Amino acid sequence: MQLIKRQSKVATQSKTKMFECPEVLGAKHSVPLLDGRYVPQIFLDNAASTKPFKVVSDFLQEIQPYYSNIHRGTGFDSHFCTERYEEARRIVGEFVGWDSDRDVVIPVRNTTEGMNLLANTINFEAGDRVLTTILEHHSSDLPWRSKAKVEHLPINSEGQIDLAELERRLDPTQGRVRVVTMTGASNITGSVLPIHEIAALAHKYGALMVVDGAQLLPHRKLKMRHHSDPSHIDFVVFSGHKMNCPTGVGAVVGRRDIFAAAAPYQTGGGTISTVTVNSVTWAAPPDRNEAGTPNILGLLALARTIQVLEAVGMDAIDNHERELTALLLEKLNRIPQVKVLGSSDPEAVDKRVGAVSFTVAGVPHGLVAAVLSCEWGIAVRNGTFCAQPLMKHLLKTDQDFVCGSKSDDGNADGAVRASLGIHNTEKDIETLVEAVANIAQKQWKGEYDQDADSGEYLPRGFRFDFSGLPGFSTEPVVNSPIPTLHYQQHLPLVTVAGIGALLTTLWACFG
Ligand code: PMP
Repeated sequence: MQLIKRQSKVATQSKTKMFECPEVLGAKHSVPLLDGRYVPQIFLDNAASTKPFKVVSDFLQEIQPYYSNIHRGTGFDSHFCTERYEEARRIVGEFVGWDSDRDVVIPVRNTTEGMNLLANTINFEAGDRVLTTILEHHSSDLPWRSKAKVEHLPINSEGQIDLAELERRLDPTQGRVRVVTMTGASNITGSVLPIHEIAALAHKYGALMVVDGAQLLPHRKLKMRHHSDPSHIDFVVFSGHKMNCPTGVGAVVGRRDIFAAAAPYQTGGGTISTVTVNSVTWAAPPDRNEAGTPNILGLLALARTIQVLEAVGMDAIDNHERELTALLLEKLNRIPQVKVLGSSDPEAVDKRVGAVSFTVAGVPHGLVAAVLSCEWGIAVRNGTFCAQPLMKHLLKTDQDFVCGSKSDDGNADGAVRASLGIHNTEKDIETLVEAVANIAQKQWKGEYDQDADSGEYLPRGFRFDFSGLPGFSTEPVVNSPIPTLHYQQHLPLVTVAGIGALLTTLWACFG
């Protein structure tokens, strides 16, 4: 694995340590600017999706010729892929500290699908409650709303919930709490919740503990802990695309007995043990919960990604990102027009990850993001980040947001988010902060118009030019090797057989 060594001032036992970053594809490729220059991109949109590890992309190339469906085929490739798939399942489980007897790993497309799977698997009774927080991503909030009464715990100015309030709400006299579901880390404020303390409280009152690990797992170690430990996590859900894995895959890891007690959320091929025209007996989990052909290469890629993260070391990644987050907060705090949402304390990076959302007074968030992209080559994200209740709370607005709408309210309808990934450096942070300081002074070169439909800001007379970049082609594919191989392999045999037949005929006629 190619590692890029970088000096990091992270003090581990007061020693300066080298942070070794595996190559991340496209992390620094050139992007065009408004003034015609090309600069290496600064990619700070990692909370949306990360760029793939090269070693994982190479692994996929190597394994693709062996691709075959799993579990049911008799061919060599099918046996091979089945073995690798089950190995991958184990690697994913071990990453989060599963108990292979009591937990299952169920591959899914992403966290959203995983949360829907859980909400449609756990049995609810009338009057049941689900406790969550105002911090949640829509994907961890909405799936529960049709199943039970969902209550959102508030957060304080540090982006943390009050555990005493949680315990009060767990009181069964108000109705049974069936599930406590919380994000491990917020994709907006970066707040990291004390999930094991929360789990211990949930279990004290007989509730299940579900953790949305999408924003936490790429950055910090999470172990579910043993089932006998009251602070264990019953289910964790996460997405590969947020942790440098190139394909659309994620996983739910958690209690086998809960999956075994419920009919599958999706039914079809692979989920059954017996089917007649009148009846069906479900297979045991995880097969029961993997309807149809799974994303086989996706799970393999996820497992390889996990191996890369573990080779670097989750603690090393965490330390590296804490250092950069502290630097970013410290520098943003010095720009008077900037307001960081949630905690902006550089000393409190143990309670947060490096998703840092902010507003710039007097400059709409969409304009900030457009100038960062078109004039500095910095990729960020702006808007409400799929967590509108949280943004409403953070921006202290009564206004309901409408996705993709044009707003004249400047920053009332959203924020800018810079989110760190494994490949980011101090230099990236310095350039971002320099750019934001300029924008706060209303210094930019282009003239920007807001698109009436999307609300997006676009520089007048400028569009990104994608020509020359990889794309689709209508050219016929002419290099199929199959007919050639076939011909070459059989030519000598045909020739020998032909000569043999000719000799036999001649012998019969003249012999
Ligand atoms: N939860 C959190 C905290 C997230 O950050 C995200 C993705 N931004 C999701 C859930 C949803 O993940 P996905 O889009 O992969 O389903």
